[in-house]
Amino acid sequence: MCAASRGLGKASAAALARDGFGVAICARGAEALSATAGEIAAAGGDVLPLAADLSRREEIDRVIAATVERFGALDVLVTNTGGPPSGPFTSIDDAAWVEAIDGLLLSVVRLCRGAIPHMRARGGGRIIHVTSISVKQPIEGLVLSNALRSAVTSLAKTLSIELAPDNILVNCVAPGYTRTDRVVELAGQAAAREGITAGDVEQRMIAKIPMGRMGEPAEFGEVVAFLASPAASYVTGVTIPVDGGWTRGL
Ligand code: NAD
Repeated sequence: MCAASRGLGKASAAALARDGFGVAICARGAEALSATAGEIAAAGGDVLPLAADLSRREEIDRVIAATVERFGALDVLVTNTGGPPSGPFTSIDDAAWVEAIDGLLLSVVRLCRGAIPHMRARGGGRIIHVTSISVKQPIEGLVLSNALRSAVTSLAKTLSIELAPDNILVNCVAPGYTRTDRVVELAGQAAAREGITAGDVEQRMIAKIPMGRMGEPAEFGEVVAFLASPAASYVTGVTIPVDGGWTRGL
């Protein structure tokens, strides 16, 4: 489980651990990661914290090797990482694009490349990508997410076809507005840009959600756990939005 010291990754790791998976969790900051590992272990989970920066290839190789060494197999890969900076297209320079490509896209490519041989050796597996509802409906001010998560979604569809004969199922879960630190930070940034309060920004987000509230991280984690479970044995190549009805497309 990638990027799991807080937010959606943490909630997904907790749900997988509850369902009996041994979970390797990673994030850059060792301190927050070990606190999260402590919480999952206290709830009875088998957890391995691995501090790593997923935008660096050698760290991904190390995470995969340590996971297989500890658990003897790699059955489920959940890709996730921190969100990219926000701002209009004209404010994003080449350096920001390259950093976002490394973080959001190349990390996923490298994680899949590392995990697939282990899944093939086990006769199957699950790859689950945390993306965003921005792949269904672009979000204003989030051009890096809008562009690069669509690339991850297309990669997932391609892999779902290539890997179906290996019984490796590949799907995406697209969060809508979910109450995590990331959303609080984005609301603060938008408020500063527009000269309004973060509370105003939050109300504006909620006004567009038919269910009238943000999601909770645990509600997202349950959908990741479903895709990892035997119940999802015939589901591949899809994106499941978890957005309280925010996406207006069919
Ligand atoms: P978050 O910022 O609360 O948590 C991100 C996690 O990623 C943290 O554990 C952080 O330590 C880790 N991380 C960041 N960069 C990393 C790196 N280079 N290597 C390893 N770990 C790294 O974010 P979140 O709200 O949990 O969202 C997770 C993902 O889902 C993000 O990409 C976000 O953009 C996306 N998303 C979130 C929402 C939402 O409403 N929360 C909506 C749509 C999309």
